[in-house]
Amino acid sequence: MLGPLAKTLKVSLLEKRYTTEFPEHREPLPDSYRGRLRLDMDTCISCSACAIICPNKTITMVKVLTDKGDKIMPQVGHERCLFCALCEEVCPPKCLTLTKSYDYETYDKRELVTRPEELD
Ligand code: SF4
Ligand code: SF4
Repeated sequence: MLGPLAKTLKVSLLEKRYTTEFPEHREPLPDSYRGRLRLDMDTCISCSACAIICPNKTITMVKVLTDKGDKIMPQVGHERCLFCALCEEVCPPKCLTLTKSYDYETYDKRELVTRPEELD
């Protein structure tokens, strides 16, 4: 019974801390990490393929006012995103991409619904 307790005491008293100060210090991410989505609004052709393929139905096509008039573009509910990358795969001009960003901590998941203009 003393084994685990002794190990815990040894780790907490003698060894270096495992936690890091976030966000000042960030651990390097693996190459395969998939994070927040990014949209290049200039090349989106409003085809809706991303919304159709999304297995969790977290992409909604919403109206956006652009220099060329009204267009529909993807709004992403990051709170329900599986980071499966299917939307990235099917996007014809490759304007919807997964990034390495994981800055989406919040107390209100509604804040994770990201309009096209904010997918930068
Ligand atoms: S990564 Fe997957 S779950 Fe997330 S928006 Fe794209 S298709 Fe949907
Ligand atoms: S992001 Fe890509 S797949 Fe989605 S509507 Fe725009 S062009 Fe089509």
